[in-house]
Amino acid sequence: MSVASLPKVELHLHLEGAAPPSFIRGLAAEKHVDLTGIFDTRGHYVYRDFWEFLKVYEAATGVLQSPEDYARLTRAVLADCAASGVVYAETFVSPDFCGGRDVGAWRDYLAAIREAAEAAERSDGITLRGIVTCIRHFGPEKARETALCAAETAGDWVVGFGIAGDEQAGAPKDFAWSFDCAREAGLRLTAHAGEWGGPDAIRDTLAALRPERLGHGVRAIEDPALVDRLAEDGIVLEVCPGSNVALGLYPGWRSHPIDRLARAGCKVTVSTDDPPFFHTTMAHEFERLHDAFDWDEGEFDRITRTALDAVFCDADTKARIAKRLERA
Ligand SMILES: [Zn+2]
Repeated sequence: MSVASLPKVELHLHLEGAAPPSFIRGLAAEKHVDLTGIFDTRGHYVYRDFWEFLKVYEAATGVLQSPEDYARLTRAVLADCAASGVVYAETFVSPDFCGGRDVGAWRDYLAAIREAAEAAERSDGITLRGIVTCIRHFGPEKARETALCAAETAGDWVVGFGIAGDEQAGAPKDFAWSFDCAREAGLRLTAHAGEWGGPDAIRDTLAALRPERLGHGVRAIEDPALVDRLAEDGIVLEVCPGSNVALGLYPGWRSHPIDRLARAGCKVTVSTDDPPFFHTTMAHEFERLHDAFDWDEGEFDRITRTALDAVFCDADTKARIAKRLERA
């Protein structure tokens, strides 16, 4: 049995970032939008560095203009996830891209995404939940509006709140109001930190936003005392090795710190981040980790249990996912 076929739980997946390029090109053609320059000759997304990646990402996202577009996007993304063995995923969704942070418009987008996700659950046996995410480089004012959208729609589908975008824009404390607002609405919290920022960025994020999970968090490895603290406090790391390697954070899979973080007792999970942008899938991540670190089925089983423990959905859904993992 190949590790690629093991059942998987994915915690860190940007909905727009998971858009298959062919889907975006089709939508652009329907809407007569010119996306010249964001695809290479083979039809893959093309960019040189993280900041250009953000621009390409926003250009691709620009053709997603209605709840119906997001319903189609959700179906396309979940078909890919299910094909990779994912049985449960949490996806970052952003009112910035879905209705311009207007609560009424956001509800319409959300209803379309949920309906598509429920259809995928019936047909492909994959369950999806949403984490409303503010975009750091859009600034703290917009993040407040995003948090209010999240608080208004918190419940059995919107289960978390987070922050993504350019980690070097602003300071974590600028977003504390938004995180407090989401926490008071009962949402669970995660924050991107320790990808482009180092150990200090992780410490600042933990102090200001108090998330229970960190998006990436891998640069904690540069500070052994911080690694110990993450392990002791049980902070869950949403590690996306293929993303880090594709963006040049580490020169290759063998130099990626995921194995060292796991051995140091950190709660490590595996996700794809923005899979087609990084030419990856969950099955590919598992295969590459097996190749790089000789991880066996037992190691992947631990990874998946850690991810299941860290899901933000309600207990009934979690129990259902646990059963599905056992059967698989
Ligand atoms: Zn991310």
